[in-house]
Amino acid sequence: MKRNKFPSECPSCGGELEYEGRYRRGNFRHELYRCKDCRLPVEKSIDKPIGEKYPIIKSLSIEVSEKRTIGSRIFNKESIGAFLYCTNPKCTNPGIYLEPTIQDMIEKKQRNHVIREFCSGVELTPTGRTRDHCDQYFKITIDLVFEEN
Ligand SMILES: [Zn+2]
Ligand SMILES: [Zn+2]
Repeated sequence: MKRNKFPSECPSCGGELEYEGRYRRGNFRHELYRCKDCRLPVEKSIDKPIGEKYPIIKSLSIEVSEKRTIGSRIFNKESIGAFLYCTNPKCTNPGIYLEPTIQDMIEKKQRNHVIREFCSGVELTPTGRTRDHCDQYFKITIDLVFEEN
């Protein structure tokens, strides 16, 4: 796996940072580093909110229903990044790569779009030896409002 070298120095003491791993909070992945000298943890976010990347988006509403979940999840331009993650705890994720669809909508100035798609993740068995495709199925309704210029 390719590891991003940034940040290279501890912001507190200038010491060397060591990569500790990746984790996910909501729809955003983060990398965690730790200073070899003062042990300060330094976090770097990998995913940016869609709204930050595409200022042309005035507002965004993404409603997600999943086969496994009752009810739906709603996201906005601050709470969604490039990926919509799957809620199946056994799934390796990432669920759905949303960004290309949003880019396409921006290009076409399209305001509504519905995606019906199976999860792209796999389920790992406890031994990790065999894998099955995650059976999660998503219905994603995207509503976009563009900034007037
Ligand atoms: Zn330090
Ligand atoms: Zn999944």
